[in-house]
Amino acid sequence: MRVGIGYDIHRFREDGTLRLGGIEISEAPQLDGHSDGDALIHAVIDAILGAAGEGDIGQHFPPGDPATRGIDSRELLTRMVRLVSARGFVVHNVDATVIAERPRLGPHIATMREALARCLSVPSSAVNVKATTHERFGSLGSGEALAALATVLLDEDSAS
Ligand code: MG
Repeated sequence: MRVGIGYDIHRFREDGTLRLGGIEISEAPQLDGHSDGDALIHAVIDAILGAAGEGDIGQHFPPGDPATRGIDSRELLTRMVRLVSARGFVVHNVDATVIAERPRLGPHIATMREALARCLSVPSSAVNVKATTHERFGSLGSGEALAALATVLLDEDSAS
């Protein structure tokens, strides 16, 4: 078993629709970023890469690469799951926390778990997503930005 952690933070744009945990959430604008800005998926990717000893998301997807401009982060996650699978690892479980003053995420948690679980090839019971506010402190607390933390446990794939 190998454990990894991930963290990401993105600023909200003024326009677009929020992409988070692999779903669209119409109650908030999109997060700024080279890809679709999905900070939760990026934190999960960093946790997976950390657990596998494979560096970080920036090494695999250099910022500014035209090939990943505006890309759906689910595609990035699926590719990294494939990469660690080729190294003999499968995802055991994921736990994540989103820190944001907006939007209210409670009604979307189950859908995010399902979307992430599909990319990770695990049941949604193996993907936990929590949400908390930043108690109005700083850039997260003012609703300027959204952050995400993730922990992943990988198993050595007994089939490989
Ligand atoms: Mg990011």
